[in-house]
Amino acid sequence: MRQPMVAGNWKMHGSRESITKLLGTIKANCDTIPAVDLVVFPPVIFLQQVQQLLAGSKIQWGAQNVHEQPSGAYTGEIAAGMLIEFGCSHVLIGHSERRTLFNESDELLAKKFMAAQQQGLTPILCVGETLIQREQAQTEAVIIEQLNKVIDLAGVEAFNHAIIAYEPVWAIGTGKTATPEQAQQVHALIREQIALKSENVAGKLRILYGGSVKPDNAATLFKMPDIDGGLVGGASLDAQAFLDIAQCSNSYY
Ligand code: PEP
Repeated sequence: MRQPMVAGNWKMHGSRESITKLLGTIKANCDTIPAVDLVVFPPVIFLQQVQQLLAGSKIQWGAQNVHEQPSGAYTGEIAAGMLIEFGCSHVLIGHSERRTLFNESDELLAKKFMAAQQQGLTPILCVGETLIQREQAQTEAVIIEQLNKVIDLAGVEAFNHAIIAYEPVWAIGTGKTATPEQAQQVHALIREQIALKSENVAGKLRILYGGSVKPDNAATLFKMPDIDGGLVGGASLDAQAFLDIAQCSNSYY
């Protein structure tokens, strides 16, 4: 059985004050969701504060990005070992905003994935197609290419210690959600691709859905057989919405 996970990507949002409030409410209520792993991804500047607020709770935290090198003259960048020092357990790799706005290639992301794992972080590898790619029936090819770049460098066994998030780019922050059937189809494809290399790894791999997940659509998405929870953007900034989404995952296991 795969333990579901609900992760909150805060993007470039938050302040000391809002984070204290947000995490206070989530922390006070997270015991009602025992069967779901919860992870939050604040902007790195707030990691120390998040570490203090969440110490001893069941909620984990991570970073939205990491550099592929362990140290060096890379002004403005953060290395995986530094994230470990602030108690991070996870890191997002290849969020579509990193791919499109910051031109991160599949090759670079494969290196970041490896660098994160080598330091003991669990990468959440984000994959997904744009609207044009979907309309041109390229979804499958795009996802397979994004996956294979990482498998080729890191090996399939690396997915024993990783999570995948399927995030159709056209659904992120747009209010448009993939239907449960559309999402399930891609999640099954991802699992099949991993199973081609290792059925054992594929069976245990958690695959999250991301793209305008809200309390009113989470339940139908999370009940699909290959959807093991969600990566949530906008709704994760609202404590009650985040808890309600996680609760939807809780009820299916
Ligand atoms: C995301 O940022 O990963 C995301 C899925 O955002 P939203 O839920 O706002 O679409």
